[in-house]
Amino acid sequence: MSTFVQIVVNIPAVSGIFDYAVPESLAGKAGVGHLVIVPFGKQTVQGVVFRFIDQPSLPEVKEVIEVVDPVPVMTQAQIALAESLAESTLSSLASIVSLFLPAGLNQQVDTVYELRIPDSASQKSTIESRLLKLLQERGPLRGRQIDTHFRKVDWRKSAGYLVRRGVLASQSVLPPARVRTKYIKTAQLAVSPDVAEAALNDLGKTESTQTRRGKTLQFLVRVKEAVNVSWVYAESGCNLADLQELEERGLIRLFESEIFRDPLERVGREVDRYTGKQVDQLTPEQSFALEEIISAITSPATRLPFLLQGVTGSGKTEIYLRATEEVIRRGKQAIILVPEIALTPQTVRRFLARFPGQVGLVHSKLSEGERYDTWRRARAGSLKVVIGARSALFSPLPNIGLIVADECHDSSFYQSEPPFYHAVTASQIYARLAGAVCILGSATPSIIQRYHAERSPLPASSPLGLDKADEHRLLDQQLRSARVGEELGVRNMKRLDLPHRIFESGLPPVHVVDMRDELKAGQRGIFSRLLLHELESTLGRGEQAILFLNRRGTATYIFCRDCGHVLRCPNCDTPLTLHLEDKERLLCHQCGYERGKPKSCPACGGRQIREYGLGSERVEAEVSAAFPKARTLRWDWDTTRQKDSHEMILTHFANHRADVLIGTQMLAKGLDLPLVTLVGIVLADVGLYLPDPFASERVFQLLTQVAGRAGRSERGGKVILQTFDPANQVIQSAARHDVNGFYQVELEQRKRLGYPPFARLVRLEFRHQDPVAAEQEARKLAGKLGELLTTDRWKLVTVIGPVPCFFAKIAGLYRWQIILRGADPAAVLEDGPVQAWLKDWRVEANPISLL
Ligand code: ADP
Ligand code: ZN
Repeated sequence: MSTFVQIVVNIPAVSGIFDYAVPESLAGKAGVGHLVIVPFGKQTVQGVVFRFIDQPSLPEVKEVIEVVDPVPVMTQAQIALAESLAESTLSSLASIVSLFLPAGLNQQVDTVYELRIPDSASQKSTIESRLLKLLQERGPLRGRQIDTHFRKVDWRKSAGYLVRRGVLASQSVLPPARVRTKYIKTAQLAVSPDVAEAALNDLGKTESTQTRRGKTLQFLVRVKEAVNVSWVYAESGCNLADLQELEERGLIRLFESEIFRDPLERVGREVDRYTGKQVDQLTPEQSFALEEIISAITSPATRLPFLLQGVTGSGKTEIYLRATEEVIRRGKQAIILVPEIALTPQTVRRFLARFPGQVGLVHSKLSEGERYDTWRRARAGSLKVVIGARSALFSPLPNIGLIVADECHDSSFYQSEPPFYHAVTASQIYARLAGAVCILGSATPSIIQRYHAERSPLPASSPLGLDKADEHRLLDQQLRSARVGEELGVRNMKRLDLPHRIFESGLPPVHVVDMRDELKAGQRGIFSRLLLHELESTLGRGEQAILFLNRRGTATYIFCRDCGHVLRCPNCDTPLTLHLEDKERLLCHQCGYERGKPKSCPACGGRQIREYGLGSERVEAEVSAAFPKARTLRWDWDTTRQKDSHEMILTHFANHRADVLIGTQMLAKGLDLPLVTLVGIVLADVGLYLPDPFASERVFQLLTQVAGRAGRSERGGKVILQTFDPANQVIQSAARHDVNGFYQVELEQRKRLGYPPFARLVRLEFRHQDPVAAEQEARKLAGKLGELLTTDRWKLVTVIGPVPCFFAKIAGLYRWQIILRGADPAAVLEDGPVQAWLKDWRVEANPISLL
């Protein structure tokens, strides 16, 4: 009887999973998680075995052609994660599976040739004879190894012929990771001298091996500390293979330095104040948090993810490090996700220092080959820790014990191109499926994350303004839906707080400057008198300043410079935005309301109605005008398009080769620059008035993170926050570093308006180079959906739109969107015809922005 399997083929455009038969010859070889080669239509393609099945869905199924590698390319837990993600993100399984396989895997596949029967008497060509001789001498070899013996000779045809004649056996394999000689730098004894001494007599088969390895070990016993491998070679005559063998036996450790350029490396001790220092005693708050985490690691009964909420410098990273130590001690591995490696060098360096030789980095500068090597080493279990941006989550570690998402509020964890997914949500799901512990860490967790870490998981009152009966139906529907039920189970978290900084006395004071007063006082520039004054004294003391500018939403919203009044939509209170395409008009991106630009302010009658627009070039120019001697440096999208530019700019600034750093979003990430004593937020309001329910939250997070950059050393520091809207809740909370207060108010707001976490959203986007075609298609779909949703079944799902997206044109394509909102709006898409309607649409479940 043959066995049947379901296989996801590695063609992202193809959705679904296909049935295949496993031929007798591959029985026992084609297991779950294996990379296989299968016929697909007229092609042969790669695929991954997902499961065994009793009966195929069709009477005639094709057979698996070959198993590529004896070791699975995906673990059971990864397969479960892929299925869960495909469902929750509404993506095809194949596109999700492609996240797990290193790019270019198909090019990596090689073939091993092996002699099957000793040299047969039949006639052979010269190439055949050479090939057989080679395999006889060397044993099984991979194609690429054989290549080196047959320069410019096509030996593969002859090999194929010999395989068909049964003289050779061939098997596809994934080649091993290259020995990364160039990275291995130092070796150190890993055991006590006694243990090393006892091992001395049994180190190799031949006497010369024994001698070399013995000398090596004795040398390392003598020097105790880690020494450069070239000394070891010189001292003992050993080679890399010997060192690796000794490492394999657990006698020594080899440390490698990753190809990771640390921008702060040469800055010296001041930046490095704490990095290398051993933290002897945790604070009581840290101890409490760590105990909770360790008890989760040790007892599988309490496996809720943790939300570790603590300001920068409160000791979160120290907790990640200790939790990682704990899981490594238990023979497991850890994944540490950070927003971007280049922007979080201090965190990365601490992991490299704490777990030398055991950390793999996944970052955007790895070549395909390097990425493959890291993937290989993770799969083999030789990496204990993988650190990287969101894609690091998909490293095939065999036994995951811990997943950390640091700065879990950061939007870079969301992949905003298909397949859309949120790496933080995925971490929570993955941890549960793999039986690992998950820690999300942030000073400013998102409203949704924070909400799921509160005690009561369900809203107390009806979010959508429904009556009791409807509300019950809604909750009932939520809980019955498998997807949402799953999500609720995953999303509940346990909150751990670290409210205090370890070293500094507190967070820097924030001075709010009302820019309307500046105008009245005749100060027309972009800097207030206070900011100019503080800049002057900071520069005078030879210290550094950061000027922060929110990049998103410049030149967009309309406000009165006299009273600060922002023009809003009469229907939905959304700030109106200026469009200049054909004629000047103000538009509501929520409901489509449109009007012209008024001559005077509806609130105060003032005549200074302006759109707000400001770029970092302009800020730089004004700094130079006011302080001609100050050395300025710009860190924004324009200046970082070049490779390595983040590092260059950071290094430059950290080495004090510039006095004022003018930057955008990047500044908010985990930098610790001790010379920075002044942070100026040029205009805090930017980004607040975007037509997006998540706008306030994003601005609050940014302002809070940026404000936390000042005063991270004994020198202290201050923050100047300029605004036209000082009464605004977001500004007020940020000025007080009041994360909890902001959370309370914003959550109320979300509840009132029926936005997440009190409803779920699905965003449908259509792009077209012709604006009319884009609009027509959007209206057509909205009409059909509107009709569908009048039926009783979908009463609780509403359609918002169609409207042009806020960023109305991207890469020459016009964008229109429709939002579905409800308890489980994704369920609508499972309806038969809807799938077909959405063929050319981008479908996003739980979007993090509606712009
Ligand atoms: P966060 O990750 O929250 O920004 P860190 O873990 O980086 O905080 O801690 C801030 C600094 O304090 C680091 O330099 C760290 O080495 C140090 N540190 C953390 N915990 C302690 C402790 N219990 N005692 C002394 N120093 C500590
Ligand atoms: Zn409106």
